Amino acid sequence: MEIYNIISKKRDKKELSREEIDFLVNSDVEDCQISAFLMAVYINGMNNKEIFWLTEAMIKSGDKLDLSEISGIKVDKHSTGGVGDKTSLITSSIVASCGVPIAKMSGSSLGHTGGTIDKLKSIPNFKVNLSKEEFINNIRKFGASIISQTENLVPADKKFYKLRNLTATVENIPLIASSIMSKKIASGADCILLDVKTGNGALIKNLNQAIKLSKIMIEIGKKFNKKTISVITDMNSPLGNTVGNLIEILEVLEVLNNKGPEDLRQISIYLAANMLNLANLNDCEKLSLNSLESGSALKKFKEIILSQGGDISNLKENFEKNTFFYNVMSKKSGYVSEINTENCGISSMILSKKDDNLDYFAGIKFYKKIGDFINTGDLIAKLYVHKENINYEKFIQVEKILIKSFKLSKNKPIKSSLIKAKFTEEDI
Ligand code: URA
Repeated sequence: MEIYNIISKKRDKKELSREEIDFLVNSDVEDCQISAFLMAVYINGMNNKEIFWLTEAMIKSGDKLDLSEISGIKVDKHSTGGVGDKTSLITSSIVASCGVPIAKMSGSSLGHTGGTIDKLKSIPNFKVNLSKEEFINNIRKFGASIISQTENLVPADKKFYKLRNLTATVENIPLIASSIMSKKIASGADCILLDVKTGNGALIKNLNQAIKLSKIMIEIGKKFNKKTISVITDMNSPLGNTVGNLIEILEVLEVLNNKGPEDLRQISIYLAANMLNLANLNDCEKLSLNSLESGSALKKFKEIILSQGGDISNLKENFEKNTFFYNVMSKKSGYVSEINTENCGISSMILSKKDDNLDYFAGIKFYKKIGDFINTGDLIAKLYVHKENINYEKFIQVEKILIKSFKLSKNKPIKSSLIKAKFTEEDI
């Protein structure tokens, strides 16, 4: 079998066999050939059989985690990626505080969307890499652990993820479905909640495509005996008020302190309730809400962070002391009718890019949401960077992008619903 022939077959819109897909994923292939393959899939797609075989081959590329030592039904959650999406940290704390174990492996940013691991790395001393034994021990002891993928968990995805980010092949259903489901299946949970984002800030912008992605992932879950639910949620504006890394952790703490922006609270409660439901608990919305109101989710979050070496004692003070901000004001008045959310994600990435590293203090706080009225001169957003990374060219570049991203209208727009749909195995 030749890699060249596999690439040309996909280039020519032909169906690949299980053996060909396995050979491509599990042999030593040059990055340039994988990149060409990714682009061929991006352009010509894959049928459901091929997507399943791709997922299977990716799982085979590394280890599978055995969580059987941990008692109880283990529930995992994954988002297809959004802007300001910090729900994994809130839902994990809620669900674990209700006694359902959370074994969560998260990713870094992909395309313009943020990653839970980058947010966690902004917490001083927080260890995102634990050994398998430490991970399992922490879950047994504290009920939850959130880490970066272990070194040999779906290494094929690590390679694909990096190359997709470099080759403009991120926004593609077969590649997203196989990337997410291979990791979820290999990481050993019994049930999976998928948060499929749709809207102008999501990887999959169109609702029908989001439904298609949901259904394929549920089918893959079913084939591997994992009870899988997908909820489709809105990504037509940043979730909450903040986009970045440390700034998003501060917002997570606000919600866990039973405050915080309503959209973020609402969606977190809904997602956590669905995770609890997968673990066969009853009255799940009430349980989630109680966990926030009683402070038990906050206590659990602190426990998780502390158990992985993190220090959240002075996060807010450190953020205020170490950042410089630049105000973005509106040049017009009107109701916010549309926000180009992808551009908000790109703006945050521009601010946080620091050579080959990230400025974890960089980010954006938004002061207006869809439906709000803006007067000329009103504050739309504050741009933050670490005091040592002040760069006025960047501020002006981002200011221009954001001013264009906020569409204003004379009439108050109708807000779209946060939760669009839910699919279970029965719907497939
Ligand atoms: N999250 C992933 O892990 N992979 C994708 O392709 C998209 C979101």
